Amino acid sequence: MAIALGDVPDYVKASADSLASQFDITDAGGRATSGHIPDSDHYTGHAVDFMVYSDRAKGNALASYLLFTPNRWQQNSVKYIIWYGRYYDKPAPVPATDTDLSHYGDVYVGPSPHRDHVHVSYQSSQDPSQVTTSIAGDVAGVADTVGSIIGVFTFLADSKNWMRIAWFTLGAALLTVGLFRIDAVKQGVSTVAKGVTNAGN
Ligand SMILES: [Zn+2]
Repeated sequence: MAIALGDVPDYVKASADSLASQFDITDAGGRATSGHIPDSDHYTGHAVDFMVYSDRAKGNALASYLLFTPNRWQQNSVKYIIWYGRYYDKPAPVPATDTDLSHYGDVYVGPSPHRDHVHVSYQSSQDPSQVTTSIAGDVAGVADTVGSIIGVFTFLADSKNWMRIAWFTLGAALLTVGLFRIDAVKQGVSTVAKGVTNAGN
């Protein structure tokens, strides 16, 4: 079941949908116009509350996934996480051998202890390391084009290919001459036919 997030950026929706399906979250809150602290990222669509209710293990699993799995934090463009009274503003050092959540982050002093939902705030734009992936794709595309241009030059640099081009050109020329001759013969026939017709008048 897809979670309803309201008007949020595509990378936020992609991340939240993926996390929700992975951790069996069926209820979540995204963009909001009220009900959060002032300057909350929910007001700009850059925060998602993943509801786990009384399932603390599920909340731990979701928070741990983002905090302890290499690159997950960046891949999801996370800014910070609030879960079970703690505030995490960066991922754990990699590789994390100690995965006790209480050993990371700081005590969260906001009004809600966040014990029934994991709050994930997202960067205001997609993490640069993820945007680079698409730029790398563009560079690969340019490389392909350059590669095909180089391919043409490589083709032309081979003398055997020049012979092929010469034969091709000669063939095309002969074909053209051939067509011209056929046309000329047709005209000749037509002239003779006209002559015969005239003779009949
Ligand atoms: Zn929230």
